[in-house]
Amino acid sequence: MDDLRELYQDTILDHNRKPRNFRVLADASHEADGRNPLCGDELTLFARVNDAGCVEEVTFQGIGCAISKASASLMTEFLKGKTLGEVQHDFDRFHRLVTSLPSDAPNIDGLGKLAVFAGVREFPMRVKCATLAWHALRAALDDEGKIAKTE
Ligand code: ZN
Repeated sequence: MDDLRELYQDTILDHNRKPRNFRVLADASHEADGRNPLCGDELTLFARVNDAGCVEEVTFQGIGCAISKASASLMTEFLKGKTLGEVQHDFDRFHRLVTSLPSDAPNIDGLGKLAVFAGVREFPMRVKCATLAWHALRAALDDEGKIAKTE
């Protein structure tokens, strides 16, 4: 668990400093805002989904704490090229991971680099920061233009 904790800190720092896919997607087919009033995180998620239901591109813009930005950055990398069904599945797995008890062994199957967010379980206040981008993405894919709130 110490290794994962170190990796968590390194990954958050890296993605906060250099967020990936941090831009407006001009030809997005889906878009939604996400807000976490507890922390002041505000993100806009953009996605382009093709006719086959494959997520071709995911990007984001906004302001927020290091965890919310790093989580959004990693999520956009992770979901590119996946189907909508897989995205839903990943959302569920990620949500289960970050809301599980810190004393439990983290279930990181299939989560790749997102596994580092097991580290957020020790800081329950930050779980909403880590899940904000995911809630916004789900809102974007469900219903264009909706605003997702963590509350
Ligand atoms: Zn935050």
